[in-house]
Order: sequence, then C-alpha cells, then structure tokens
Amino acid sequence: MKQLIISFLLGLVVSFASMAQEKKYPEPAPMKPEMTEYWVPQPPVVAPGKISSDPVAAPSDAIVLFDGTDLSRWENRKGEAAEWIVHDGVFTVKKGTGNIRTKQTFSDFQLHLEWRVPEGIEGKSQARGNSGVFLQGIYEIQILDNYENETYVNGQAGSVYKQTAPLVNAMRPPGEWNTYDIIYTAPTFKSDGTYRTPPRVTLLQNGVLLQNNTIIRGTTQYTGLPKVREHAEGPIMLQDHGDPSAPLSFRNIWIREL
Ligand code: MG
Repeated sequence: MKQLIISFLLGLVVSFASMAQEKKYPEPAPMKPEMTEYWVPQPPVVAPGKISSDPVAAPSDAIVLFDGTDLSRWENRKGEAAEWIVHDGVFTVKKGTGNIRTKQTFSDFQLHLEWRVPEGIEGKSQARGNSGVFLQGIYEIQILDNYENETYVNGQAGSVYKQTAPLVNAMRPPGEWNTYDIIYTAPTFKSDGTYRTPPRVTLLQNGVLLQNNTIIRGTTQYTGLPKVREHAEGPIMLQDHGDPSAPLSFRNIWIREL
C-alpha cells in the first residue's frame, strides 16, 4: 500500500511537471507588411537646385567604387562577379541577377552615389524604380522614383526603410541624375549583442537634407519590426528589387572611410 501511495504521488509530480512544461502563452498576431507602412504626413516637396550634368569628382582620399569603367570592386551575393550592365560610364541593374555588394567592407563612412530612373518609367508607389543602398549590407536607405509618385512615407526615397521618413521629397524627375551623400556611423555592441550605441545616418539628396543624424533602430524589415543583431563591418550593397518597372542606373560611386 505504501508503495502504491508513493508511486501515485510520484505520478502526480510527474504529471504536474509535464503540465508546467506544456503551459502555453498567447503568441503575438503575425505581422503584415502594411502594419509598418505610414502614409501621412507626406514630406513637403522641395525642388533641388540645378547641378552640373557632370558627376561630382571624388576627393583625393576617397576609395572609388565605380568610376564608369567596370564593376571590379563589386560582387553578387554568392561572391561571384557582379552581372549588372556597365555601359556609357554608368551601370544598370540587370533584373533577376540579385543584389550586388562591394568586395570591401566598411565601418564609419561618407558615401557618394548617383542614381537615375529612366525617362518614361511607369508604375506607382513601390513599383517604380525601386532599389536601395544597404549600409553595412544590412540597413536599407530607400531608392525609389518618388517624383509625383506617392507611397508610404517611411518607404519613399531617402527613408530609412520602414523606419524613418525623409524630411522632404527632393526628387529630380525621371531621366535626371539624383545624388545621395550619406554619412554613416556604425553601431557598437554590448556583450549581449544589443546596441551600446545604435547606427546613425545623415543623408542629403541633391544637396537637400533628408536624414539628420537619424538613429537606425535595427534591420529594415519588409515585414515586422526592426531587429537588433550583432554584426561586424559590412559592404555597401545595392538592391535588385524585382519590381516590374524599367531598371535604374548608377554612376560615380565613391566612399571615404572615417
Ligand atoms: Mg528598396
């Protein structure tokens, strides 16, 4: 009888223990992309000043990432030769071949690049000249044709994608070159992998301030909230977005390490 009682009690303990293990808490509802898309207020439109049609020449201490001749400083995500098309001193996205990134990795930097969507481009919202420049290969600054093309403001040209809208819309019309000048401070990390100091970015488009030392809160997710994960130095990466509009082009890309 004593043995029976002990085994009954043991059984109770075991079943309580397994109940404790199986205790379930509610999961958060799965997020949809629209949940992190904000359409108002739309940033004011500012017409940028006229610039020379000649590219801004790289300063003497810059690393020239593209000088109009070849993509030898770039690779695809498999580490193979970048397949985007070099022509007439520029290169154009070859759709379907994927993002390209610099072979070299960077920490803090000043980056200059120029991009152009083709004249007569069609499509609207995100499906019109969508690309992006990923800082350290992770944090996307949006590239998009937002000339008379509205979209969610934290996804328009010059946004920290799905995080911070640009201060203004300083687009040049399709067929004209846009400049981006980006000043980036890389994050530092605590031993648990969270930010000790978050990444920060300042951005001028066509000489007009769009981001002013903006804190980047984590990864620039299409779906869901930013995630913080520890990382080392990273490349400059350009996006092959896959939207159906005509592909955009880049020229005159240089970087200064800080
Ligand atoms: Mg993009």
